[in-house]
Amino acid sequence: MLLHLINNVLDMSEIENHELKLKEAPFKLREIVESLQAVLEQTAADKQLALEVRCEQIQNNRLIGDAVRLKQVMMNLASNSLKFTPPGGKVSLAITEEESCRAGYAAFLLEVKDTGIGMNRDFVDSMIFKPFQRDETQYVSKTEGNGIGMSITKEILDVMGADMQIESEVGKGSVFRIHMSLKIDSGAAGKEQEEKSDVPNLTGKRLLVVEDNEINMEIIEFLLKRTEAEVVTAWNAEDALRIFDESPEGYFDLIFFDIQLPGMSGYEAVKILRAKNRGDALRVPVWAMTANAFSQDVEQSMQSGMNDHISKPIDTDVLYRKLKDAL
Ligand code: MN
Repeated sequence: MLLHLINNVLDMSEIENHELKLKEAPFKLREIVESLQAVLEQTAADKQLALEVRCEQIQNNRLIGDAVRLKQVMMNLASNSLKFTPPGGKVSLAITEEESCRAGYAAFLLEVKDTGIGMNRDFVDSMIFKPFQRDETQYVSKTEGNGIGMSITKEILDVMGADMQIESEVGKGSVFRIHMSLKIDSGAAGKEQEEKSDVPNLTGKRLLVVEDNEINMEIIEFLLKRTEAEVVTAWNAEDALRIFDESPEGYFDLIFFDIQLPGMSGYEAVKILRAKNRGDALRVPVWAMTANAFSQDVEQSMQSGMNDHISKPIDTDVLYRKLKDAL
């Protein structure tokens, strides 16, 4: 928190003196969003808010630009939404790649949406979009960081050549939409391909997958079989528990559990599994497969004894990275 404040103060002097310059360095968009998600999930959970973070249709993950500033923009907007949304509400941050009309550049839409207190038009016009000037420090100190965050966000976006639109309704919430164009790291085209084919070798490992949807099962089975692991499938919770019971202790190295299943849910099944009187009942890692990454789902899956979660549709890179770290 203090660090955040200091950063903003440093930023202010840069902005006041019109010295804000963006760095040009290679970065990976998905990594920024993932690291941000980790921070935001904690805040959302503390405030009892549902949080959804999505990367959609990202064709160009490797880009050139100022990753720190870009992250700061996302952080400021999402933090604001979390701050001004009452418990029980929802905040989402989505980044979608759009068609680019500029060669060598990729276009993105960043959308931060909340069900918060909202702002009236005058507030949006007069405060948020008021360009920062030297003599406005009084206003800035009065608005306790929120104003500072917004001024910085606006300034960074201006330097980036990105535009921001705000739709807001008092009592209903706000949507911040930012269209931006980022330089494609063309030198990394081959690297991305290399990384994509970076399948972990899980020869000798045994995985149990519990999923009732045929297409989802086909996808996860395909992705897991590429690791050379042995994959056992179950189409419902009851079958999964039976398969576990019949397996020797320590047989499975990891279990993937869908949450919504016909009959018993994934949550219930994992509670039962964890309570079983055998050595591996508490030890075997169980990962939830959730259709949305809302923090309440994640929290509930953790409470029922799951260790981690992967979102559907499955991001291959994320799955393989997690498997590599875990097994
Ligand atoms: Mn299901």
